[in-house]
Amino acid sequence: MTSDAAADCLFCKIVAGQVPADVVASSERVIAFRDISPKAPVHVLVVPKQHHGDVAVLAAADPALLAEVVALADEVATEHSDGQYRLIFNSGPRAGQSVFHVHAHVLSGARLGWTPA
Ligand code: 5GP
Ligand code: ZN
Repeated sequence: MTSDAAADCLFCKIVAGQVPADVVASSERVIAFRDISPKAPVHVLVVPKQHHGDVAVLAAADPALLAEVVALADEVATEHSDGQYRLIFNSGPRAGQSVFHVHAHVLSGARLGWTPA
């Protein structure tokens, strides 16, 4: 595990190759892998390799890295779907965040509903 990794963080372990994942794309600082419990025909998680807790923390610490996350999400949606997608960052448990290493959900491949609450 690198010095950027947080202890007991599932996505740091995926980044380090310690937990297997179906990786669909990567760049120098970002990795994209399929969600284990997909909610759409294409459901990919796009994750900075460095540990940051949520999207606001990432935006404050390294806005260029957040832009790299968005760019890789767009590439994944173009390569694995029709380039139309929803990008979701759940922030906080009540919003549905369960892994506290920032990740963008890329949802695509179907007409998406809009009933989160
Ligand atoms: P959150 O609920 O934090 O917004 O999103 C976490 C996502 O991680 C969930 O959609 C969940 O299905 C996914 N997930 C949880 N454990 C694993 C795993 O071991 N591998 C993969 N690929 N996805 C996981
Ligand atoms: Zn982490």
